[in-house]
Amino acid sequence: MTSKMYKRSWVEIDLEALEDNYKIYRNLIPATTQIMAVVKADAYGCGYEQVAKTMQECGCKNFAVSNIYEAIELRQKGINGQILILGYTSVDAADELIKYDLTQTILDEEYANDLIATNKKIKCQYAIDTGMNRIGIDGENLKEAEKEIRRINKVLDLKGIFTHLCVADANDENSNLFTKKQLNIFNKVADSVSDLKLEYIHSLNSAGSLFHYDENSNLARLGIVLYGLKPDYNDTLPEGVKPVISWKSVVSMIKEVKAGETIGYGRTYTAKQNMKVATIPTGYADGYSRYLSNIGHVYINGQKSNIVGKVCMDQMMVDVTNLKVGRNDEVVLLDQTYTADDMAKTINTIGYEIICNISKRVPRIYK
Ligand SMILES: *Cc1c(COP(=O)(O)O)cnc(C)c1O
Repeated sequence: MTSKMYKRSWVEIDLEALEDNYKIYRNLIPATTQIMAVVKADAYGCGYEQVAKTMQECGCKNFAVSNIYEAIELRQKGINGQILILGYTSVDAADELIKYDLTQTILDEEYANDLIATNKKIKCQYAIDTGMNRIGIDGENLKEAEKEIRRINKVLDLKGIFTHLCVADANDENSNLFTKKQLNIFNKVADSVSDLKLEYIHSLNSAGSLFHYDENSNLARLGIVLYGLKPDYNDTLPEGVKPVISWKSVVSMIKEVKAGETIGYGRTYTAKQNMKVATIPTGYADGYSRYLSNIGHVYINGQKSNIVGKVCMDQMMVDVTNLKVGRNDEVVLLDQTYTADDMAKTINTIGYEIICNISKRVPRIYK
């Protein structure tokens, strides 16, 4: 990416909002629970370097990423706290795990054996599955889980154990019961090895921290809420929390479209009357979802403008009939009022996906 920003499609990251969000959650969560900033996927599209540095300046000492590439880059950029890799790392990278002082998640017994076979005292944390069925050893099989944790503690540098909640963001009775059950299973496992005095025992993601806080968890792995978005659209966030991401573009041209003409690929939109249409140089290759074709909207000079036709790879068209719009005017695709959560709702997905999908070719500008 060139250092100069030419106005086409760009993301503005409000680092002050990020800092404020961190402080709000730091005040909300009891001091006995440390915060782990989850900065995987380039800090949910916000840029892990600036985000992690800001968090470090705020006093955060724990970071989580999804893979070893992200982990190494983070270390190279000067992040010096714990860096936990939440997912799979090939044991071919054992030397790098040691060299960069990374903490690797253990997925199951077989993976643990592979790590042991490297003959290196790798820092690690054991994942305990309490019902999500993604990674981890079965926590419900308490005796086996206990035995396995004790076995690993002898041969690797075991820093902790953790589980992941899968419906903590929903607030119906069934989901709440399931979350309680997950926490209960995990806490039993933790109790069974309490004599090992493992440094980190944790079960909370964003939704868990907000809606199912558990004092047994001495770490809260915060992702989405740090970026000012909601785990689920129906959740309410604490007062003062603000979205960190705004996404902007410009009007590249304006044209008249006559009644009966169609707009865009596949001719999916037909003008019912004479219209004024603006073209915007942002498309699905920038990460703007093609599912928003004909149902999404943008804001130009504060005015709502509907997408007409299919979102193209690099451009899209919007209806500006009766709006005050000129070429080069700024277009708001996302901001602190129309958030990624709002956009996600239109296409039945989650804010996480909207912001993670904003592609690398869209420059990030930090404020
Ligand atoms: C992604 C992830 C998190 C963060 O989830 P949020 O909902 O964004 O807070 C926490 N823990 C694990 C294991 C994860 O994979």
